[in-house]
Amino acid sequence: MEFDYIVIGSGAAGAVIASRLSEDPRTRVLLIEGGGPGRNPLLHYPMGFYFTLKGGRYTYRYRTLPVAQTGEREVWTRGRVLGGSTAVNGMMYMRGGRAEWDELEALGNPGWGWDTVLPAFREMEGHTLGASEWRGGDGPLGVSIARTEAGLDRAIIDAGVARHGWATGEDVNAMEGERIGFSPATVARGRRTSSASAFLRPHAGRPNLAIATGTRAERLLFDGDRVAGVLALRGGNREQFDAAREVVVAAGTVETPLLLERSGIGDPSVLGEAGIAVRVASPKVGTGVKEQRMVPSQFRLGRRAGLTEELNTLPRQAWAGARYILARSGPVSRMPYNVVCHFKSAPELERPDVQGILTPMAMELGFHDYRLAKHSGILFSGYPINPRSSGSIHVSGADLTAPPLIESSFLAAEEDRAATRPILDRFRELMAAGPLAEYVEAEDFPGPEVRTGDEVLAWAAEAGAGIYHAVGSAAMGPDPDDVLDERLRLRGVEGLRVASAASYPIQVSGSSMAPTLALGWIAADLIAADR
Ligand SMILES: Cc1cc2nc3c(=O)[nH]c(=O)nc-3n(C[C@H](O)[C@H](O)[C@H](O)COP(=O)(O)OP(=O)(O)OC[C@H]3O[C@@H](n4cnc5c(N)ncnc54)[C@H](O)[C@@H]3O)c2cc1C
Repeated sequence: MEFDYIVIGSGAAGAVIASRLSEDPRTRVLLIEGGGPGRNPLLHYPMGFYFTLKGGRYTYRYRTLPVAQTGEREVWTRGRVLGGSTAVNGMMYMRGGRAEWDELEALGNPGWGWDTVLPAFREMEGHTLGASEWRGGDGPLGVSIARTEAGLDRAIIDAGVARHGWATGEDVNAMEGERIGFSPATVARGRRTSSASAFLRPHAGRPNLAIATGTRAERLLFDGDRVAGVLALRGGNREQFDAAREVVVAAGTVETPLLLERSGIGDPSVLGEAGIAVRVASPKVGTGVKEQRMVPSQFRLGRRAGLTEELNTLPRQAWAGARYILARSGPVSRMPYNVVCHFKSAPELERPDVQGILTPMAMELGFHDYRLAKHSGILFSGYPINPRSSGSIHVSGADLTAPPLIESSFLAAEEDRAATRPILDRFRELMAAGPLAEYVEAEDFPGPEVRTGDEVLAWAAEAGAGIYHAVGSAAMGPDPDDVLDERLRLRGVEGLRVASAASYPIQVSGSSMAPTLALGWIAADLIAADR
């Protein structure tokens, strides 16, 4: 089977690329996705991710190597379904601003500054607030603001303004500097917008776009110095697909370096240890992985308020479900992390370096347990926006089933520790400020034993976690050793690009979905221009 382009992975970037390349009816595009087609309605209800993230039906769940700080292995979850992680994620849509994008460009990546990226966002977005100089109004990607009329949510925002002097407005993506407001979300008319629902399903009838779900790319195939196809496993059978023009690897930050290494593209010493022959020596494949580490905390409320009260008993869940079915309204129709703030960890900084997420909901045993508490509360997690510590992801063997070696590195760089130490103080100050103080009764966790900056770092290591945003495992950069050039072409071979969160050398926003969707949009332009 021959196509012009083969895109591997249908997540934030891959779905956009396949969709846009196939707009030209003469271009034959194959999109290969390891997961299924994603027909479960829970994938489309914003609150459905509470269920779809459990178990392994729609996700990969990787165990890391023991982390340095605790010696414990942690679990990294990623989407494995049409739409990739955008089909199961938290839906927070944070784009980053001019300063962050211009920093990426200044690192030696021409064409990735704000003046290129903002037009891509504007073309892509169908924002319910409508078009403006900051956002798009009639693009395919449904975005809305997780605004509620709840008094508690308003009190959180008002406390940020009153206590910290943060700015607020209807759209925090249309603001810069320290700010707090309702979260922008990939939710439209009460339904999750995934990259599949926005970019693939509307074009399912295109004869020149083939979508092979349940098909896992095992390795890339070469014709001399050119990548000419893909060997994939489908239903237990090996199948070969040929690409007349290019293969685009869009398999996410974890799977992308694994696929490259299985194909013989990587650091010769890593490949040697895994028993894989070298096709293209590319020493940085699998390195430079940047993931944020969040500091969790939770406050108990002295009165009933917030999402816990709407969802913490079976009758309430049934009522929430009925409201959703009848009117697409209520808590099931919204993303739960509905307040976001950006602040500076030190006043002398030029711009915010911490993102905080506030959820008007209490959990029983901590952030990652997904079990609602009986009492009302506010859950907070804060983390450095652009961490400098970096880890790695490599294969442990040539076989598709060989488990990855994920070295998760966090809080190793002093910049990351400096950004993390004051996070709890800022949040505690917020909770003590009017009008929020009238709701708050006590701190559920971590409690008074975590006070000093170093205690906060220890708490982040012990109780915190990565937040699924890792980037950088096959990144662009100006050095000959960098895996990609600024057009996302893999150095040292023809016919191969990498377009996914893996392609970013730094975190350009507090969240990685919006940047990766934009990367897909821009990648499609680059590929079309290079034809
Ligand atoms: C639980 C969770 C919550 C998150 N919450 C947020 C959030 O609220 N806001 C935010 O901005 N970001 C969030 N993210 C991160 C964001 O979703 C990702 O950064 C983004 O989707 C990455 O896009 P991608 O295209 O690189 O990869 P993905 O979206 O992960 O897609 C990769 C796709 O490739 C497929 N694939 C992998 N290997 C192969 C192979 N060998 N063959 C065929 N197919 C393959 C996978 O099945 C998957 O569908 C979250 C992620 C997760 C997992």
